[in-house]
Amino acid sequence: QCARICPTGAIIPKNEVSKAWELLDNPEYKTVATIAPAVRVGFGEAFGMPVGTDVTGKITAALKQLGFVAVFDTTFAADLTVVEEAEEFLRRVTAGGTLPQFTSCCPAWVKYAEQFYPELLPNLSSCRSPQAMFGAMAKEMLPKLFDVPREKVKIVSIMPCTAKKFEAQRPEFSRDGDRETEVVLTTQELIQMIKGAGIDFNAIEPEAMDLPLGFKTGAGVIFGVTGGVSEAALRYAYKKLTGKNLANVEFKEVRGDDGYRRAEITIGDNKVRVVVVHSLSNAHKICEEVKAGKADVDLIEVMACPGGCVGGAGQPVYVGMETRKQRAAGLYRVDRNMQLHSSEDNPYVKEAYQNILGTPNSHKAHELLHTHYQSRKRIQDEDVLVSGSDEAQEK
Ligand code: SF4
Repeated sequence: QCARICPTGAIIPKNEVSKAWELLDNPEYKTVATIAPAVRVGFGEAFGMPVGTDVTGKITAALKQLGFVAVFDTTFAADLTVVEEAEEFLRRVTAGGTLPQFTSCCPAWVKYAEQFYPELLPNLSSCRSPQAMFGAMAKEMLPKLFDVPREKVKIVSIMPCTAKKFEAQRPEFSRDGDRETEVVLTTQELIQMIKGAGIDFNAIEPEAMDLPLGFKTGAGVIFGVTGGVSEAALRYAYKKLTGKNLANVEFKEVRGDDGYRRAEITIGDNKVRVVVVHSLSNAHKICEEVKAGKADVDLIEVMACPGGCVGGAGQPVYVGMETRKQRAAGLYRVDRNMQLHSSEDNPYVKEAYQNILGTPNSHKAHELLHTHYQSRKRIQDEDVLVSGSDEAQEK
């Protein structure tokens, strides 16, 4: 039963605040921070601000005061995820690949699929999560920028999520024992650090994030809410299939609170059938339908937490759906206030393809931005008990 609620062992997450302090205290390291989309609209609650207030600039300033040499945005990597995942989907459709395609940006869902539905793993997008894509890109780009060896760049990821702690430990996201993401702090843990350091968060002046990995579009920002990954992919697919810019970028058909939603989107001559689910009970439902051949769908977005990442277990404690809705509204406001709403328009994403990745889904893109999965069915009992615990992290 525990495994159904918490497939990643997130019930027993390890607090990593002291590990983050150790990195910051070591002058040999260039320690940088990266902030997930949903964090910015949950953070202010701990300081008495209205639910859904975007405090990206204040978090950035606070992180600089804590000693991070640069502050970036995981949303940059969410933009990369959109490009890679939408391209993968379009290739599966045109080349007769395995369909429907499931999203893979939620590590709790990925681990759930590995444990309970290994027969569906070919349906999962091979794209890494934005956190894991960020780690790979940062380790590729920052050593040159800072003129230090790769292992001296340390990445601290600020996440709404306890499952991301498990994800960062996966051996496929390390090279020669050097983890791409060294420490994962939840929103609550960063709040603890800021309060512990005596920083007056309410009074602090906002600061801009650093380039190039701090630049994002609105498509990446809405990754933090259920339906956001689908909407971002649809924005990309529209331009790719029609060659035109969207007059209205908001796909309201995939938005909402229902735990299981269906939508059919017409793009040019094509119809894309989408299912959006959040919470693992609804993931279970759609998986059973796919297994039975009754799903009648092309693209399936799964987020394990109710409401998506805005309702993540690492966010400040909230009461009920209204809080989630207001955080989601905060992310949609951020999207509306941005100049760019489609991931492929991010100039630093374009630059990454020009200078490092080549084309979407290229060999290099697969090396840095994609992953593989393994059945955990046989080891699930042992795995569920220890993952995320001290013992697991020491293994
Ligand atoms: Fe993490 Fe929850 Fe978001 Fe999944 S939905 S990535 S478990 S916060």
